Amino acid sequence: MHELSIAEGILELARRHAAGRRVVKVEVQVGHLRQVVPDSLQFAFQLVCQGTALDGAELVIAHIPAAGRCRDCGAESVLDGFPLRCAPCGGLDLDVIAGDELLVDALELEDEVATNERMGHGSHV
Ligand SMILES: [Zn+2]
Repeated sequence: MHELSIAEGILELARRHAAGRRVVKVEVQVGHLRQVVPDSLQFAFQLVCQGTALDGAELVIAHIPAAGRCRDCGAESVLDGFPLRCAPCGGLDLDVIAGDELLVDALELEDEVATNERMGHGSHV
């Protein structure tokens, strides 16, 4: 289960950042190309957080649509399915410009809010 390793990555990053404080909310951005099932990620997150400083923390998942730039016609279009295809010309030779995000956008701690902590953009998580 792909979502479980993502949940563990989020947990690790949040715990490191929280340094012992309780975490009440975690906001993450997940790109479309990650093919994450939000319900599965929620479930996995609650599971891995049990007994940690994140136990009971709310997970807010922002879905980032995928977008690509066509190498043939230069158009930028939203990629909403597989295979990834340029909308205007149907070309398959695309540079992905959005949609592979996987990062913790904000972390709400019991006594402060920390923002923009990136986690492994493009890495194995
Ligand atoms: Zn094109």
